[in-house]
Amino acid sequence: MDSYTKLLDGYHKFRQKYQQDTVWRQRAKDKQSPEIMIIACSDSRVNPVILTGAGLGEIFVVNNIANLVPPYKKYGNSYHGTSAAIEYAVIQLRVRHIIIMGHSGCGGIRTLLTEHEEPEPRPDAHYSFIRPWMKIVNEAADFTTSEKSVLDTDILAAVCERRASMISLHNLKGFPWVEDAMRQNSLHVHAWYFDIASGVLEEYDEAAGQFQKLV
Ligand SMILES: [Zn+2]
Repeated sequence: MDSYTKLLDGYHKFRQKYQQDTVWRQRAKDKQSPEIMIIACSDSRVNPVILTGAGLGEIFVVNNIANLVPPYKKYGNSYHGTSAAIEYAVIQLRVRHIIIMGHSGCGGIRTLLTEHEEPEPRPDAHYSFIRPWMKIVNEAADFTTSEKSVLDTDILAAVCERRASMISLHNLKGFPWVEDAMRQNSLHVHAWYFDIASGVLEEYDEAAGQFQKLV
């Protein structure tokens, strides 16, 4: 069975289940009211709904390359899909938690690491969209010469992936309505890191300044 046929086969099973599932059908009649927003990578192995066992309507999800949050920029000249989603989640949906979910083996972060030393991307260069996007977390790839000579690329990437989520968390707090909701204690923000090989999830502990395994 090819991948597209497999999708359709899965859909047919979904339809059979959907016809019998009264909870899901009720959800279709209501407005969505998720209390959780998750900003995750587009990586096909990282799915917060599967990872947490969440149901339909429970998580407002944004996927982008390397789960980044850009800095707040009022009336910017670019298109801000992720910023628009954050605005909608906080102002309209009034979510109670926003989670930035990084992960191991992130292709976006790998691009940042391998091309970090290069000058400004040429307009005709490969990754003409990915490279400027990844500049949001450029500092995450700052390693000393000795770190680069001692540590292998996988270890540097694991550090970089966590640092990038910390930068995105910082950027998230810079959105004025996020800041307001946090001040009122109606919104809490988190950074997670999912290790695909072990299936272990970590959460950033701001007081300790490090990621810790969730047990
Ligand atoms: Zn990724």
